[in-house]
Amino acid sequence: MGIKKFSLIQLEDYERFVGNEAVERIYKKAEPLRGLHITNINSTYYGGGVAQLLSSMALLMNSAGIKVGWRIIQGSPDFFSVTKKMHNALQGDEINLTPRKQEIYERVVFENSVRNHLAHDIVIIHDPQPLPMINYYTKKGPWIWRCHIDLTAPNRQLWRYLSPFIEKYDAVILSLTEYKQQLKVPQLFFMPAIDPFAIQNRDMSEAEISERLNHYNIPTDLPLITQVSRFDPWKDPEGVIKAFKIARREVDCTLVLLGDVATDDPEGPQVYESILKHKEERIIIISHQDTALVNALQRRAAVVLQKSIREGFGLTVTEAMWKGAPVIGGNVGGIRYQIEDGVNGFLVSSVEEAAARIVCLLKDEHLRATMGRRARQTVIDKFLLSRYMEQYLDLFNSFETIYKLRM
Ligand code: UDP
Repeated sequence: MGIKKFSLIQLEDYERFVGNEAVERIYKKAEPLRGLHITNINSTYYGGGVAQLLSSMALLMNSAGIKVGWRIIQGSPDFFSVTKKMHNALQGDEINLTPRKQEIYERVVFENSVRNHLAHDIVIIHDPQPLPMINYYTKKGPWIWRCHIDLTAPNRQLWRYLSPFIEKYDAVILSLTEYKQQLKVPQLFFMPAIDPFAIQNRDMSEAEISERLNHYNIPTDLPLITQVSRFDPWKDPEGVIKAFKIARREVDCTLVLLGDVATDDPEGPQVYESILKHKEERIIIISHQDTALVNALQRRAAVVLQKSIREGFGLTVTEAMWKGAPVIGGNVGGIRYQIEDGVNGFLVSSVEEAAARIVCLLKDEHLRATMGRRARQTVIDKFLLSRYMEQYLDLFNSFETIYKLRM
């Protein structure tokens, strides 16, 4: 028996969306980087948008001849408990940054550094979990810190503690210009993007959608409202349920909250447990890792919610818009750049506003269709992975050391 042949998605596959010129241009930028060895390091292989981005991006770059890898750091539960507190504090929460927490954080990162032998041409470290790794290597090429978090108002005490690590990097990538910080390191701003060929985004037939929904006993007799998100207070699942209850007084519908739990997010199970009390015939709460179900729900939903209170950039918003769904998003962070209020979706700042928008959309099929069409066009224009890849290539090409490496 021969070895089964699998093929990778290539930039050419994006041609039908972005055109031949863009594909040629990106290949040209990849050309001088061919053969370079690059690694990405984050803290989970699944759950959350970073894992999603890395899984698609590493493959696409390899298909263009750049040897891009992806590793994760290992951490004990107390490590991830500390780093989730850091994540929350970077999004504005208070943190009690004791020496004990610092010791756990730095020791686990040190141990990971011992186990990972990094002699890559470029190293890209994602988010705060592996940030101090840079302390333990002699750099062969540029190191980039890519922070995906909403840095609108980071906790100052934590920022002061992390800054010396960040300052050692050659570049920092944030999602929005408004997340810019006081740093000596050059800061770049790349909004994330989606892979239209990933399981949660690729085309699905109506029969396939129904099959997935039936599998979880999701009733489709009434319009579906859905939010797909990790169970995290920043995603405001309680607010979604409240908005749904208010909206249902006017238009009957079914709510589905779907979430998964990331291995680096210890708060997930508690948040999931805490909202289970709201479960009833028309409020369905599912905690399961099923990317085809994400796809099916976003496709079948009359309205998609992403009522976040903080959001670096909400991949789920763009994923739903890709499917032509009208999305009601929290008026925060990246979502404000993903949704143009009243044009390709709605931005809301309260439960009441979310409820009013749900009602408005459910009562107006034409509005849903118009917004959905514009939403998909927005994604084609701005939020496909080919654009994100091109920004990375521009950055790689800009490093002087890379030019030296190529000589
Ligand atoms: N996701 C998933 N299953 C779920 C919930 C989320 O596969 O039950 C995926 C979702 O499709 C998206 C990512 O996880 O690709 C979440 O990314 P986002 O940027 O929206 O939020 P994050 O979790 O990174 O804060």
